[in-house]
Amino acid sequence: MSEKITGIMGAMPEEINGVVALLVNRQEVTIGGRTYFTGTINDIKTVVVFSRWGKVAAATTVSTLILTFNITQLLFTGVAGAISHQLKIGDIVIAKRLVQHDMDARPLMPQFEIPLLGKTYFDCDAYLLTIAQNAVNNLLQNKHLHATIDSAALEAFDITVPKLVVGDIASGDQFISGSSSKNNILQQLPAVVCVEMEGAAVAQVCFEYDIPFVIVRTISDTADEQSHIDFRLFINTISSRYAVEIIKNIYSQF
Ligand code: SAH
Repeated sequence: MSEKITGIMGAMPEEINGVVALLVNRQEVTIGGRTYFTGTINDIKTVVVFSRWGKVAAATTVSTLILTFNITQLLFTGVAGAISHQLKIGDIVIAKRLVQHDMDARPLMPQFEIPLLGKTYFDCDAYLLTIAQNAVNNLLQNKHLHATIDSAALEAFDITVPKLVVGDIASGDQFISGSSSKNNILQQLPAVVCVEMEGAAVAQVCFEYDIPFVIVRTISDTADEQSHIDFRLFINTISSRYAVEIIKNIYSQF
C-alpha cells in the first residue's frame, strides 16, 4: 500500500497558521505564489496550504498538492455564508455533496452540470466524512467548546449551542451578501445549506484524480444584508480555533 500523505487546505490564512503550528519537522516550499508547509502530524506526512479565494485559485492549489506533493487524501476547512435559515453564525457544516452554483452551460447541458463530466454533485468521502463528524461533535460538546473558545468571543457572536449540519454546499465566484442572490440559490438548489467560493472546485479536481476529500465550513455570515461586519474578529477568535481542534481530532482517529 502506498504511504498516506494528507493535504490540508484552509480558505483563511489565520486558520492555516494554527494548523501549520502543529507540523513537526516543518519545511516550506513556494510554488505559483502559494507557500506549502510540509512536515508530520502524529507521524503522518502532511502538507498544509492556504487555498487562496475563488474556484480557480483553489483548483490550482489542490492540483499542486496532488501532482507535486502526491497527497492521498484532502481535508479542507474554511468559513461560509448560511443559505439555510436553520443555520446560525458559529454552526458547522460538513459537505455531503458540493455543487457549482455559477456553472451554467445551457443549452449545451443542464444548468449546474459540469461540462464533459456529466456530473452536477461531488460527494465527500464517506470515511473522512464520518471522522470529521466525530471531530466536530466532539468540539461542539459544551465543555470542549468552552475550553476551546473564549466565552467573551462566543457571546460577541451570540453563539450559544452551535450545531453540526451535514448537507450540500454550493460554491461560486461570488461573495453572497444580499437576500436576492441568497434566495436565488435557495430556490434553484433547495438542498444547499451554505455557500462559499472554493469547495466544489476542489471537489471536482479531487474527483478527477480519485483523491478522497472532506470539506468542513464554519458559518461566518448569513449571506445577506445582515452579514456581520467583524469578519476578522470571527476568523481570529472562532473559526481558526475550530479548525485547529477539528484537524487535531481527525488525526487522532487516523
Ligand atoms: N471578507 C474577507 C475576505 C474573505 S471572504 C476578509 O475581509 O478577509 C472569502 C472567503 O469566505 C472565501 O473563502 C469564501 O469561501 C468564504 N465565504 C464566507 N462567507 C461567504 C459568502 N457569504 N459568500 C461566498 N463566500 C463566502
